[in-house]
Amino acid sequence: MKVLLVFAHPEPRSLNGALRDVAVAELQRLGHEVQVSDLYAMGWKPAIDRADFPNLASDERLLPTEASKAAFGAGELTQDVRDEIDKLLWADVVILQFPLWWFSMPAILKGWVERVFACGFAYGVGEHSDKRWGNRYGEGVLAGKRAMLIVTTGGWEQHYGPRGINGPIDDLLFPIHHGILFYPGCEVLPPYVLYQAGRLDSVGFETAAERLRARMRTLAETPPIPYRRQNGGDYLIPAMELRPELGEPGAEGFAVHLSQEVGSSA
Ligand code: FAD
Repeated sequence: MKVLLVFAHPEPRSLNGALRDVAVAELQRLGHEVQVSDLYAMGWKPAIDRADFPNLASDERLLPTEASKAAFGAGELTQDVRDEIDKLLWADVVILQFPLWWFSMPAILKGWVERVFACGFAYGVGEHSDKRWGNRYGEGVLAGKRAMLIVTTGGWEQHYGPRGINGPIDDLLFPIHHGILFYPGCEVLPPYVLYQAGRLDSVGFETAAERLRARMRTLAETPPIPYRRQNGGDYLIPAMELRPELGEPGAEGFAVHLSQEVGSSA
């Protein structure tokens, strides 16, 4: 398989850097092709601004969605963005790796998503009618690819449990899993989460590394999180609400978008 690992940590000697090396070595040992986008090392520009659209007239108002769509359609996205799109199209598996910062991904990685997931490429695609509402949530340009997160946290596992003060990890990661990866069509695998990372000693590291190697070995067969497909009949269109007869009575929130209950993090 071809694996793209997008890495967001500023320090190569960090725990995240060591885990990335473990993942890449295991994938290569298994014969997979791997490309790493090391965002800090690349000096990735995280913010969308006028520089992304050099053909936009200087007196023209910048409308990010429209500018993105026009630039994508005309093949005029900047070279750094086009290179990342090519890597995404090349990959069978996309892995995003990052330390949890303020309950989400570091800004540089969010900026990678914002710039690379262009309009007309990752969103704003497909027919909108009373039968379908675009190619998204299970359909789209990344359909057929698998995706997963490798995440480290400072907080303990219990802090991210069903009643933990930080909120359940599956809920915190839902916007990335469902809103960023499932949206353009990826099948999303349960995340690899390493809790309490700041306290890790060398024994803990070896345990964590072996757990990560096991996840790399099972990338092809790990069952994805069973999100409901938007155009598969479970949602009212155009309201885009789950049909009232589906899900447990009274259920609401993120979990209703699963076609069955699962424990997701490994
Ligand atoms: P490092 O600091 O590089 O290492 C962590 C530990 O691993 C060190 O003790 C190191 O010695 C040890 N280690 C063991 N083996 C190795 C090895 N082989 N190589 C390298 N190190 C090793 N946490 C949360 O839970 N929720 C948040 O919302 C959150 N927000 C944050 C926001 C910011 C801006 C920052 C800076 C931190 C935040 N944190 C949060 C904590 C953050 O998630 C952790 O600091 C991070 O996950 C640790 O990963 P690291 O790669 O930076 O670890």
